[in-house]
Amino acid sequence: MKVLEMNHIKKSFGSTEVLKDISFSVERGEVVSIIGPSGSGKSTLLRCATFLETMDDGSMSYLGHSLVTSKNGKAVYADKKEIKEALTYFGLVFQNFNLFPHFTVMKNITDAPIRIQKRNKDEVYAQARELLAQMGLSDKENAYPGQLSGGQQQRVSIARALAIKPNILFFDEPTSALDPELTLEILKVIKNLAAEKMTMVIVTHEMSFAHDVSNRMIFMDQGVIVEDTTPDALFHSDNERTKAFLGKYY
Ligand code: ADP
Ligand code: MG
Repeated sequence: MKVLEMNHIKKSFGSTEVLKDISFSVERGEVVSIIGPSGSGKSTLLRCATFLETMDDGSMSYLGHSLVTSKNGKAVYADKKEIKEALTYFGLVFQNFNLFPHFTVMKNITDAPIRIQKRNKDEVYAQARELLAQMGLSDKENAYPGQLSGGQQQRVSIARALAIKPNILFFDEPTSALDPELTLEILKVIKNLAAEKMTMVIVTHEMSFAHDVSNRMIFMDQGVIVEDTTPDALFHSDNERTKAFLGKYY
């Protein structure tokens, strides 16, 4: 079962073509890491996958539901109601946490499930407390984001993403704003999710982590997928661009 399928995605900003015919898919339970130099289009790809950005052309489906189709070289989006439903298929964790500063930890986690998914309040609160326990943050439910460390804030944003019971979780450089020590604590959380067979797409510069946690790795450069293969194959690639990029890390 494909959770996400994207085909022939194109996206330009003005005259700059940022995504040039990108195709890939993610199977249920798979962990796919996306690596590549700054400016290669990784964030734009995740933003197109999560409707934060509209693609110019291409098609996209979640769980076999077609949400974007390509017609005459243009992306045609499904109607608003279908897109709104699809927003509960996935969670997104950003580099800079993106928590609501004026909401407590508890409200950050429970707001979308209660207000958007219209789920039972008691059930949502119980689930939120379980997630906080899992993240080692049981004593923080009434804290505000500003009172937490970066690592704690990122664990709250992972709990918030999980609270909507997503079919797939996207991470955009989840540790880039963190010290090495806090980075390790977040990578451990993501490894635990992988062990639980959470479907994930992770944009990261943490190469050894990506190698260990991923079923597949995608190397992007200048708006194209250069390689989409196993971690071992990528790290032993003969491709000059891949080798040049990985060479910067070793
Ligand atoms: P990455 O995440 O791989 O660093 P991005 O997807 O953020 O790359 O950016 C790819 C290119 O698109 C960059 O050249 C960037 O400047 C450009 N870009 C991204 N977002 C916008 C935007 N909203 N408007 C104009 N250009 C953008
Ligand atoms: Mg980026």
